[in-house]
Amino acid sequence: MSDISVIMYHYVREIKNSRFPEIKGLETELFREQLKFLKKHYNFVTTEEVIDSVYNNYKLPTKSVLLTFDDGYVDHYNNVFPILQEFDVQGSFYIPVKAVRDHKMLDVNKIHFILAAVFDKNKIILDIKFLIENSKLEYNLHDFDYYYKKLAVEWRHDTAEVIFIKRLLQVELAEDVRGKIVDFLFDKYLQINESEFAKELYLNETQVKEMLKGGMHIGCHGYNHFWWNRLKAEELEKEIDLSLNFLSEMGVDISNWTAAYPYGSYSEEVEKFLRQKKCRLAFTSEVSLANTSIKSSLLMGRLDTNNISKNSNELPNDWYKKSN
Ligand SMILES: [Zn+2]
Repeated sequence: MSDISVIMYHYVREIKNSRFPEIKGLETELFREQLKFLKKHYNFVTTEEVIDSVYNNYKLPTKSVLLTFDDGYVDHYNNVFPILQEFDVQGSFYIPVKAVRDHKMLDVNKIHFILAAVFDKNKIILDIKFLIENSKLEYNLHDFDYYYKKLAVEWRHDTAEVIFIKRLLQVELAEDVRGKIVDFLFDKYLQINESEFAKELYLNETQVKEMLKGGMHIGCHGYNHFWWNRLKAEELEKEIDLSLNFLSEMGVDISNWTAAYPYGSYSEEVEKFLRQKKCRLAFTSEVSLANTSIKSSLLMGRLDTNNISKNSNELPNDWYKKSN
């Protein structure tokens, strides 16, 4: 039983010189630098080795590191997969089915691109104010000011305006009204057909199969990218079953399936349910090392790419010292 480093990635692409320079992600060149850094100081392991260490006492090397990529972006095929092959490293990819198979955008991604498309965030906030005041009775909402006071607080790298928009549309409002507002804003500011945009943004099934054949691990991230800890038991079961069907269609060995909680949304009940379904490993978004005991195997914390150096000449930080 040891503490290993699992790193979480989302967008990996050329950002600065792109159509959407405000998208928060990792530049492809920095990904390469980070791999060089990791290669110098850590030992790359595969998800299957981690499963073996949890359930069959397989001994992982010291300073083990595992790379995980969430949300099924085409970045992972175009930019990540070739570099991983060059370094002979496995990545584990957590793919929402709706995005990849059905070419529908996740709300969370719509919000990223709305924010990236509009320079003056107050424009979006005025739209939201209008929409809330107009849907108040139908959806039993509070006044706009209630939400603004509650949510508009500067946090980490985001302004109060951006945090308000993200928290309101990702967490605060119920799924139905939230989806309606997000769709309105996406149509207004992106002016592109959702399914076209989804095809540009996400992997397709051919790419997923090719990555699997190339030695990558493909795991469960649900169908809709809902918060799993807010679903009723039968809704969660549906999310997982749809996802497992998809994985098995892709050729994944689902006797050894793994998951990443969308938004890190775990709870005791969700964990218990995943255990019943024979999930082998599940990753949260808690910033921590991952412990390979059976007890912790469905609550594995991850480091963000930003917690690890992107300069191959730097020395390792405290996370390195803490790992086995
Ligand atoms: Zn996700």
